[in-house]
Amino acid sequence: MSDRAPQWVERRLPTEESSQLVALVRDIAQREITPRAAEEEEAGRFPREVFTLLSESGLLGLPYDSAHGGGDQPYEVYLQVLEELSAARLTVGLGVSVHSLACHALAGYGTKGQQTEHLPAMLSGGLLGAYCLSEPASGSDAASLVTKAVRDGEDWVITGTKAWITHGGIADFYTVLARTGVEGPRGITAFLVPGDAPGLGAAVPEKKMGMKGSPTAQLHFDGVRVPDARRIGEEGQGFAIALSALDSGRLGIAACAIGVAQAALNEALGYATGRKQFGRPIADFQGLRFMLADMATRIEAGRALYLEAARLRDAGRPFSRQAAMAKLFCTDAAMQVTVDAVQVLGGYGYTQDFPVERLMREAKVLQIVEGTNQIQRMVIARHLAGPESR
Ligand SMILES: Cc1cc2nc3c(=O)[nH]c(=O)nc-3n(C[C@H](O)[C@H](O)[C@H](O)COP(=O)(O)OP(=O)(O)OC[C@H]3O[C@@H](n4cnc5c(N)ncnc54)[C@H](O)[C@@H]3O)c2cc1C
Repeated sequence: MSDRAPQWVERRLPTEESSQLVALVRDIAQREITPRAAEEEEAGRFPREVFTLLSESGLLGLPYDSAHGGGDQPYEVYLQVLEELSAARLTVGLGVSVHSLACHALAGYGTKGQQTEHLPAMLSGGLLGAYCLSEPASGSDAASLVTKAVRDGEDWVITGTKAWITHGGIADFYTVLARTGVEGPRGITAFLVPGDAPGLGAAVPEKKMGMKGSPTAQLHFDGVRVPDARRIGEEGQGFAIALSALDSGRLGIAACAIGVAQAALNEALGYATGRKQFGRPIADFQGLRFMLADMATRIEAGRALYLEAARLRDAGRPFSRQAAMAKLFCTDAAMQVTVDAVQVLGGYGYTQDFPVERLMREAKVLQIVEGTNQIQRMVIARHLAGPESR
């Protein structure tokens, strides 16, 4: 092992308050998250108590309005908090990002009455959220979803199956996209569904390659009745709401990816300076030095890219293209950096005695969720060259 602790990243945060916030998060991560991460991931245990602690510490609603229980933090700060949490354990960092995604619809498109009624509990009342867009037959082509919501008096009745739902079966509320009208993107509406709604059931969670502590499950809606007061936005506005949530969510995934990559680099640096071969630390050999240099460069480039997109968002400027670029670049960077970290550790990197194999398995999912990296390229190309002709 290393005889020299690797330096953690120096952050440039906009205010003293935000520096203290990130320091608080790092402290919570080091005390409450990192020490149990490996064991609980192996056991597939979801750390609900960590989310309760984060909620009590005001960390589950950071980018939202304090009038509704949020933290009033710019995205630039919120994302760096996600990065710290993900470096400690992706199940937590990604979980916070998904929770935030689930709050986006109501915070951005709900009525004042809905926001006053529901947001405080969602943002700082200990509730955990989930976001339900994907279905068994509609992933990348999300606008082809078939889960139906049918109007019945003052209620809507939801029937269908959602797939791959992070926090599926354990969430307190679900932001659900369902078809209320014509085929395609214009026939979709968003709803806020309570976790204990009659007719709502979850399948056994998927057996995944990584992030085993984060439950991912199908959700079955068997005539789930929700009042019209739980419809978010206008009828037919749901897909636009979903896409707007994903623009912000993708920045969250980018930050999670950089957290995972930074954790892998720290491990690799610590190991390379301590491990000796041929009578010298392996960090002396140019073959490894260049690899470490490339890993660090990818991480810093990714961080700069997601922060640039976040600052555009914070300034109220369009950031969709930059968010797609940040998601694409940062998650590809995390994949490469974690693979390289395993290489730096040699045979030990391939064992569960060190965290890099887990980080490598975790990085993979980030290239898939919230729009695969092929879909990010489509989004970027549309911004550059306009829509594809058919
Ligand atoms: C761990 C995990 C957690 C998730 N959490 C959630 C969640 O909380 N909520 C939610 O709604 N969803 C969630 N998802 C679903 C995720 O968003 C989808 O898996 C993703 O959008 C891809 O959809 P798919 O898996 O159906 O793949 P498909 O859409 O079937 O794609 C398969 C392959 O084809 C490629 N492809 C598809 N269309 C094109 C195209 N036009 N051009 C080029 N390539 C293309 C894709 O990039 C991919 O490589 C989660 C998934 C995982 C694995």
